[in-house]
This record gives sequence, C-alpha cells and structure tokens, in this order.
Amino acid sequence: MGHLSTNRRAVVTGGAGFLGSHLCERLLGDGYEVVCLDNFLTGRPENVAHLLPHQAFRLLRCDVTDYIHVGGPVDVVLHFASPASPIDYLQLPIQTLKVGSIGTLHALGLARDKGARFVLASTSEVYGDPLIHPQEEEYWGNVNPVGPRGVYDEAKRFAEALTMAYRSTHGLDAAIVRIFNTFGPRLRPGDGRAIPTFVRQALKGQPITIAGDGSQTRSICYVDDTVEGILAMAHSDHPGPVNLGNPHELSVLDLARWIRDLTGSASELAFVPRPQDDPRVRQPDISRARDLLGWEPKVPVEDGLRLTIEWFRAHPELV
Ligand code: NAD
Repeated sequence: MGHLSTNRRAVVTGGAGFLGSHLCERLLGDGYEVVCLDNFLTGRPENVAHLLPHQAFRLLRCDVTDYIHVGGPVDVVLHFASPASPIDYLQLPIQTLKVGSIGTLHALGLARDKGARFVLASTSEVYGDPLIHPQEEEYWGNVNPVGPRGVYDEAKRFAEALTMAYRSTHGLDAAIVRIFNTFGPRLRPGDGRAIPTFVRQALKGQPITIAGDGSQTRSICYVDDTVEGILAMAHSDHPGPVNLGNPHELSVLDLARWIRDLTGSASELAFVPRPQDDPRVRQPDISRARDLLGWEPKVPVEDGLRLTIEWFRAHPELV
C-alpha cells in the first residue's frame, strides 16, 4: 500500500493492552500514525475501539512470535507485547518466554529493516526480589530463574540482552525502559495486580485480600506519567536502561486502606498467604530519568487512584 503521509509512524506491539492502548492514544494525539499489533492474548480490542475511527490508526491482529510484517516506513517501534501480571504469566509461561525472546527478535528485526528507533518495555521485575533499595539501573538484580516468576523476569532479561546485542552488532537505535508498577484505566480487574483487585473488591463490598501482613511496599505510577516517560525515551537517543516509575513508596496495607476510603466501601481487610518470590520492596531510583529525560511523575497518586476508580465504576460489566 502506498504511503503518502509525512506523519511520523509508530508501531506498538501489544497495543491493545493496558499500557499499549494508552500509548497508541497519546501517539495519535501527538500526530503520529499508529500501527497497533496484538493477538489479544491478555489485551482486548475494546481497549482501542475508540481509536478505530481515527484515519491514522490501524489495528492488526498479529502474534509477534509468528512474524511481524508492516508495510511502509516506520520511525519508532515500541515493543510492549507480553503478559505482564503475575496471574497472566503464571498461566501463560511459554507464551511469556516466547514473546520476550522470539517476539523481541521479530520486533528488533522490524526496527532494523525500517531504520526505526526501538524501545523495549522492560520491567522492574528484572531486579527480582531486590537486595538494594531503592533500585538503580546499575543494580543487576536478584532473580530466581527456576522460581514461578522466572518466566517473566528471565524473558525480560533476555529481551534486554538481545536489544543491547542489536545495538552493538547492527548499530540499531535501540533503548530499554524499565517500567515500575503502573496503574490507571483499562487495567483488567481480574489480572491479579493489587490495584485492580483492591478496587474491584472494594466496589463489590467483598473483603480486600492483602498478601501477607501487607507491609511489603510498592511504588505506583499513574499511566499518563509512565506514557510521558516512554515517549521522552522514544524521542531521545539514549540507550538506557532507564527506570520509569514513581518513587513514592507505600505499603500494600496502606494502599488497600486508601482504596477502601476513596471508594467509600465498607469492605473488610482480609489477609491471605503471600505468593512465592513476591518482592518485599520495590522503589525506583529515577535519577537517570530525571537527568537524561527531564522526566518525573507529576500526577499525585490520589488523583490517579480516583481516575482509576471512576473508570471501574463506569465499566461495571468488567468488575
Ligand atoms: P497487558 O497484558 O495489558 O498488555 C500486553 C499486550 O500484549 C496485550 O494486549 C496482549 O494481548 C499482547 N500480547 C501478548 N503476547 C502477544 C503476542 N505474542 N503477540 C502480540 N501481542 C501479544 O499488559 P501491560 O500492563 O499493558 O504491559 C505492557 C508491557 O509493559 C509488557 O511488556 C509489560 O511487561 C510491560 N510492563 C508493564 C508494567 C505495568 O505496570 N503495567 C510494568 C512493567 C512492565
């Protein structure tokens, strides 16, 4: 197909997922043409249904572990395809390893063919159950390769190594962002991550289930901030890795109480066993993102939680 437009063109793998759909939306808003590739393994076409009327948006069903074919020029490839929540990757261990390895190989190949900038969505999980706190990019991590979470952590570590190999061997303009817990509208209520689970339970008046005693910490970043950081990285020429996350740390127990208060729910708090290899602490050191990209989160966590709760209330069919 002829390509007449002079707009910049982006390919987003996993574009029908939570983060990918927000990325597609923002890229369109910034004047990009966007090609969204997804096999709907953990994402949903509904996440991008509102973008379909846009002339500059194309949604292609495609399993990136089979092949990737995109006609015409491409300026940037954002590789976001992968199951991302513990429930998803524990149920889909082989798909997770395949999309991190073969899928990443194909996405890198596309960027190489097109002479495009490549951005890998890596994760704070590459740090495993961290022995230093907060985590800076120089830290190599503490991952159990044969533990249940190994499928995700090692897939992403492999994807990072492959990305660096394409940079050094083929001179590809490739970069890595290590994304920390991000939340917002379109998280799947049943995906097992703390925020959608707590919101769903609170809205239904069910007990809010806290793993362990709830003293483990998380640092949660609202999706608009994460997307801003990803695009700042896409527009820079830094290889990374760069941590993107909100350094504001809070305990899972406080998070549960906060969500209960914001929803006005009368749910009880219930304590359940902690999953194996669940990280105890998690907090990004974002000095590098601040220095290189001038990026830091701006949305107060409470505002983000309110927006997320509002979205869940507006989608009772999902809750
Ligand atoms: P998500 O499950 O909502 O989105 C992932 C998308 O990838 C889904 O739409 C899924 O259908 C698609 N996908 C999976 N395998 C595919 C394949 N083989 N071919 C094509 N599409 C495929 O998850 P998310 O939270 O939006 O995460 C997106 C990316 O960001 C993932 O790579 C994840 O590892 C990374 N990440 C997310 C977070 C977070 O807090 N949300 C944190 C760190 C890293």
